[in-house]
Amino acid sequence: MSEKDQALSVLARKIHGEVAGRIIDRLIKVGEATDEQLSQALGIEIGTIRRVLNGLYESRLVKYRRVRDVDQGWYLYYWRLTDDYPTKVLEERRRRVLDILRRRLDFEQGNSFFYCPECRRRFSFEEVADYMFRCPMCGVDLEALDNSQALEKLKRAIQILEDLRFE
Ligand SMILES: [Zn+2]
Repeated sequence: MSEKDQALSVLARKIHGEVAGRIIDRLIKVGEATDEQLSQALGIEIGTIRRVLNGLYESRLVKYRRVRDVDQGWYLYYWRLTDDYPTKVLEERRRRVLDILRRRLDFEQGNSFFYCPECRRRFSFEEVADYMFRCPMCGVDLEALDNSQALEKLKRAIQILEDLRFE
């Protein structure tokens, strides 16, 4: 197994779980396979295979070749590993997570929150105004939430991801 293939296999397992790892290992072995072939070879239900393949595709760990089946009239999808080196996949994932965290930070910084001391449910200021500062479930008065700890955690996570490089 080449270094690149091995990295893809490890990455697939980490991000998408054991079935994904087995699919990648199978594709490394045979080069190319349809979802049905994978299902038979691995003894895993085809619905699961398809769901995991879609996840792998979204992470750009696999790609496919579409071939029209002349007899049946429908398309067959032949799946194989991406040609990209995994660092590219990791770098994209880093950027995507960073983007989500930054938006979350903006949201947390731009809003004040309240919580119910009974059920611990969290409410935004707009919701609270609608509910007249009472929990709609419990009927008790809501209290202001200090989200400075959550903000610190977010900032730290963003810092770690900003310092990380996959080149
Ligand atoms: Zn409540």
